[in-house]
Amino acid sequence: MAGDIWVYVDQFRGEAHPASWEAFSAAKNLQNELGGEIVGLVFGDQIKGIAEEAVHYGADTVLYADNPTFADFRPEPYAALLAKLAREKQPAVILFPTTTRGREAAAMGAVDLKTGILPDVVALEVTEGTVLATRPVYAGKLLSKAKCATNPQIITLRIRSFAKPEPDTARSGELIEVEPALSEDEIATKVVDYSDTEGGVSLTDAGVVVSGGRGTANNPRLNPPEGLDDKEAEIWRAHQGFKMVSELADVLNGAVGASRAAVDAGYIPYEHQVGQTGKVVTPDLYIACGISGAIQHLAGMRTSKVIVAINKDPDAPIFKLARYGVVGDLFDIVPALTEAFRERLGK
Ligand SMILES: Cc1cc2nc3c(=O)[nH]c(=O)nc-3n(C[C@H](O)[C@H](O)[C@H](O)COP(=O)(O)OP(=O)(O)OC[C@H]3O[C@@H](n4cnc5c(N)ncnc54)[C@H](O)[C@@H]3O)c2cc1C
Repeated sequence: MAGDIWVYVDQFRGEAHPASWEAFSAAKNLQNELGGEIVGLVFGDQIKGIAEEAVHYGADTVLYADNPTFADFRPEPYAALLAKLAREKQPAVILFPTTTRGREAAAMGAVDLKTGILPDVVALEVTEGTVLATRPVYAGKLLSKAKCATNPQIITLRIRSFAKPEPDTARSGELIEVEPALSEDEIATKVVDYSDTEGGVSLTDAGVVVSGGRGTANNPRLNPPEGLDDKEAEIWRAHQGFKMVSELADVLNGAVGASRAAVDAGYIPYEHQVGQTGKVVTPDLYIACGISGAIQHLAGMRTSKVIVAINKDPDAPIFKLARYGVVGDLFDIVPALTEAFRERLGK
C-alpha cells in the first residue's frame, strides 16, 4: 500500500544482522505519526525463517525473496529488487540499518529510485508529515537535522542508536513471496571467495569496546627479546599492550578497537580502527587505553553511552569526553581492571 514504512532486514548466510531489528522500533514510532503498515523486506537464500522473525519484531507484512541469486551479498540484485518493489508499491519511508551491506543497498536503491538518502541517523521525528532525521556531521561535532524532499525517504539508522524491540512470537503477519528482479545472467558480479577478517566479536555490534592507542607500545619496563631492531621492539611492546586490552575485552564479552596511530604503526590490523576513517561504534561502554582523544578518533566513538579513559597524561583531550577518567599507566590499570571484573563476574 502506498505510504507504508518499509524496513530492510540485512541478512547474511541466513542470519539477520541484529541492527535490523532496531529499525523496527524506529518504524513503530514513525507509524504512530504517519500511519500505514510496517513492511519488512527480506532478500536471501533460504530465509523464510528470517521473514517470520521480522513479524515477531513488528512487521505487519513481509515481502521476501528466497532465491539462490541472493546467496552472496551483491548490491545489484538486492538494489534492483528493492527499486522494483518501491516503484510498484510507493512506500513513504525505507529504513535500513547502517551496516556495510545496508549502506550499499540503500545507496544503490536511492540512485535507482532517484530519491534522496539520509545516512547514519541517530534520531527521527515527524513534522508536518515529513520525517526529520538527526545525524552527526563534521566528525560528530555538530548534529544536523535533515529531511528528504522526495519519496521514498531512504534513511539508514546508526547501529545501536535505536532500542531493539523484544520479539513477540505470538504476533502474526502476512508473508508475501516476491520474485527477484534480475536473473543470474543479468548480474555482473560473481563472488569467488570469502576470507574472514574480523574474527571474534564484531566491533560495530559489540556492547563493550576496549580500544588501544599509541600508548600500548609505551612500556619501558618491558624488555623485548634480543635481536629486535627499534621498530620490531616497539611492535613487540604494543602486542603486549594489546594482549592486555584483549583480555579486558574478553572478560567483558567485548570487542577490541584501536586508534589510527596504533593501526598505522602496525600494532593491529585496520579492521579494528575506530574513527573518522575507521568504524563508528556506539557501545554501552567504551574504554580507551592510551588514546589521546584526537577529533578524528572521537568521530567514531563519541556517541558511546559510557566512556572510560585510561591515560598517563591528565591533560589528554579524551578526558573532556570521558564519564570516568583514570590517570595512570595502562600497563598497571588494565590488568588490575581485568582482574577486578573477572572476580566480580565470576569468570
Ligand atoms: C584525515 C585523518 C583521518 C583520521 N582518522 C582517524 C581515525 O579514524 N581514527 C583515529 O583514531 N585517528 C584518526 N586520525 C589520526 C588522529 O588525528 C590521531 O593522530 C590519532 O587518533 C592518535 O592516536 P593515539 O591517540 O593512539 O596516539 P597519540 O595521540 O600519540 O596518543 C597516545 C596517548 O597515549 C598516552 N599514553 C602513552 N603511554 C601510555 C601509557 N603507558 N599508559 C597510559 N597512557 C599512555 C599518551 O599520554 C597519549 O595521550 C586521522 C587523522 C587524519 C588527518
